[in-house]
Amino acid sequence: MSIHRKSKFEVNIMKEAGNIVALVHAAMKDAVKEGVTTKELDELAFKIIKSHRADPTFLGYHGFPATICASVNEQVVHGFPSENVILKKGDIISIDIGATYKGFVGDSAWTYPVGEISEEKQLLLKGTEEALFAGLEHMKSNDRLENVAGAIEDTAKKYNLGIVRQYGGHGVGREMHEDPFVFNYRTNNTLVLEKGMTIAIEPMLNLGTDDVYVLEDNWTVVTKDHKPSAHFEHTVHVTDDGPEILTKLL
Ligand code: MG
Ligand code: MG
Repeated sequence: MSIHRKSKFEVNIMKEAGNIVALVHAAMKDAVKEGVTTKELDELAFKIIKSHRADPTFLGYHGFPATICASVNEQVVHGFPSENVILKKGDIISIDIGATYKGFVGDSAWTYPVGEISEEKQLLLKGTEEALFAGLEHMKSNDRLENVAGAIEDTAKKYNLGIVRQYGGHGVGREMHEDPFVFNYRTNNTLVLEKGMTIAIEPMLNLGTDDVYVLEDNWTVVTKDHKPSAHFEHTVHVTDDGPEILTKLL
């Protein structure tokens, strides 16, 4: 495993990449409405990223066909935007966005409600967002990656949510996926966090079972019991003073 610690100069570029991702999320939050197609959301995201002289990181990544991942309800991650997916009141949609700016990547996901949603979906969103921030608290020098994972696991258990095991967070920088891999549950990981590490933390939690499978498109991950799933992610810089979220507005 080789972890690339970023210089201040590199972190500053990552903040600009993260700002662009945050701008797209702000637009997504407004655009997510009953009757909108996920294709329209994708086109909007593409336009915003390009208008900031950045590139959509996901487009073409291992053949991924779009700018955003748009995963509705029981879809966990990697859903394809489509003109045939029309958002309905009561849906939830997880939107994952990557932007590459001056050679560095920002990566952030958020799950949005479409109008009024059920109480259990509200709890799923609340629990998954809380799990992200519980994990982030440990993103400081000399803390352990295991504590990030443990805080996510404990929060998932508190809300009685299933934890997706096959996917997780990752180092991020010049590449979207760098070392280390970050499980969303304890694995006896011994890694000590150091200043300059930039890592995407991304719990994916389910209302039901942990188990997921991949659809025939070879991308879309769905829950085995078809209960809803949520995904919250930030790219974060480890500092001596604690987590510095990079995928936020500057
Ligand atoms: Mg992501
Ligand atoms: Mg990620």
